[in-house]
Amino acid sequence: MKIWVDRLSAEPEEITESPGRDWWQAHFESTDSPDAEFELVESPVFHVASCSRGQKVDLKGNFEVELDAQCGRCLRRYRQALQDSFRLLLEPVVENSPLDPEGRAALERTGVCLGEELETGWYRGNELELDDFLAELIALSWPLQAVCKDDCPGLCPQCGVDRSKTDCACRDPKPESPFAVLEVLRDKNTGSV
Ligand SMILES: [Zn+2]
Ligand SMILES: [Zn+2]
Repeated sequence: MKIWVDRLSAEPEEITESPGRDWWQAHFESTDSPDAEFELVESPVFHVASCSRGQKVDLKGNFEVELDAQCGRCLRRYRQALQDSFRLLLEPVVENSPLDPEGRAALERTGVCLGEELETGWYRGNELELDDFLAELIALSWPLQAVCKDDCPGLCPQCGVDRSKTDCACRDPKPESPFAVLEVLRDKNTGSV
């Protein structure tokens, strides 16, 4: 997604864009990515409203994307929606803007250099390429692990049934406390007498 600084006015103008699968693949499906367990269902949709505030560029918007993943506990496939909103304020880069070499390279390449929190940054020139920023937003909303629901009970480690569907008769092999062990031993002893 690109915006042109000289086309901005004080009145926010909204664009909706959905970059295709190529975009997704370029950002999220490199072969060495640990995120390969998530598959794209539909291309992400971005809504971005942009306007100017004096010299600054003010961007506000949100995104949504739906992924397909395999639950790490129960192994079922499930749908994982990612969505978030954002606000980004870019100011024109100046001589003493605190940019590191990586930031300068980004500025060179895209016209945009992002600050630490992804809420502020710098721009240079007229044509600003927002793709890196948008991909970064998605990466930040990425789940730490693939779980179909927070309280998914997963598979029984002993018999393998899906515990969210069926109860099994397997007992937890670990006693709850040392006293539980004593209890068991005492029962055994009294039984053998
Ligand atoms: Zn699950
Ligand atoms: Zn079981």
